[in-house]
Amino acid sequence: MKKQYLLAPGPTPVPPEVLLAMSRPIIHHRSPDFIPVIQDVRKDLKWLFQTEQEVITVAGSGTAGMEASISNFMSPGDKILAVNGGKFGERWAKIATAFGVTTIEIKVNWGESVNVSEIKAHLDKDPSIRGVYVQASETSTGVAHDVKSIAEITKTRENTILVVDAITALGVTNLPMDLWGIDILITGSQKALMLPPGLACIGVSEKAWKHQSQAKCSRFYLDLKREKDNLLKDTNAWTPAVTLWIGLATSLKMMREEGLENVFARHSKLARATREGVKGFGLEVFAKNAPSDAVTAVLAPEGFDGEALYKNLRKQYGITAAGGQDQLKGKVFRLSHMGYSDTFDIITAISGVEMALYRMGYKHPLGSGVAKAQAVLIED
Ligand SMILES: *Cc1c(COP(=O)(O)O)cnc(C)c1O
Repeated sequence: MKKQYLLAPGPTPVPPEVLLAMSRPIIHHRSPDFIPVIQDVRKDLKWLFQTEQEVITVAGSGTAGMEASISNFMSPGDKILAVNGGKFGERWAKIATAFGVTTIEIKVNWGESVNVSEIKAHLDKDPSIRGVYVQASETSTGVAHDVKSIAEITKTRENTILVVDAITALGVTNLPMDLWGIDILITGSQKALMLPPGLACIGVSEKAWKHQSQAKCSRFYLDLKREKDNLLKDTNAWTPAVTLWIGLATSLKMMREEGLENVFARHSKLARATREGVKGFGLEVFAKNAPSDAVTAVLAPEGFDGEALYKNLRKQYGITAAGGQDQLKGKVFRLSHMGYSDTFDIITAISGVEMALYRMGYKHPLGSGVAKAQAVLIED
């Protein structure tokens, strides 16, 4: 037997309460049985997104939310400004191209966060830019971009919406949608929402709905206006992923019971413990200045293969972390601390990394990272 530990940045572990709720017999989505589920999800998503606006939930992975954030708010020929600082940042231009939308990319070195003044300079120079697209947490590099400062730039520009891929940030860190003036806020079920993959949730501001009314890109299934009109009547446009909605209602209830501030504080502490833990074992965090509280990318020590470490963690200890993608393949490994994650997930992660690396010949004293993580984790 080998006990399995899922410590990857999506899918993340699903709490037993949620699994139990989802194991009940299926109910009909047009019957009165489903109405309370829709009502709870509507109410609690507004709470989580910190918005008065309707949050739209569609069946699809996070990328469906990213795609909808272009197809519903842009017209062919429109221009967007996209921050590309990793594997997910590069996706904006790929989606935009598929819809005939032109992308101006701000390329950011992997491991760094975007220089916000560059965004302002682009918008000052070219006010025809219809949207700024950015990740709140770039999962491939473990870097957080400064959404608050970017929102200060876009907030007063009626022609430009701010679209934030918060798929590994919402429910991790504070992103008050209405207060900051974020126009589109996107998350996916398999990250901090503690659910299996299969749902994307998209918050849409009043300003973004104005853009939507003029946007001419092709769309059919991912038509957010149609979904919104249905939600207002406590129903869905198409057959919703009933089981996942029931799971979502349950996980949102768990988050409400914990409280938003506590959810953020927990993630912040677990992230700090992870960073201190790997540093205590002589390793280096990949993020230069703005590490994400959802996932920590760690540089493999000189002469050691991060990919081999990832494989050894799985083979020897049943720990599924994540390796590096593209240019980071073999160079980093990534540890998630988002969603259904707590003290001993961090201890497991740091301890597993120590043991696997030690066996690979990295002779740093065992327990030195765990001790540093514990020192953070025992703080009140
Ligand atoms: C996981 C993730 C996505 C969505 O990926 P899917 O595989 O489509 O769910 C998008 N952006 C970020 C930052 C992510 O971490």
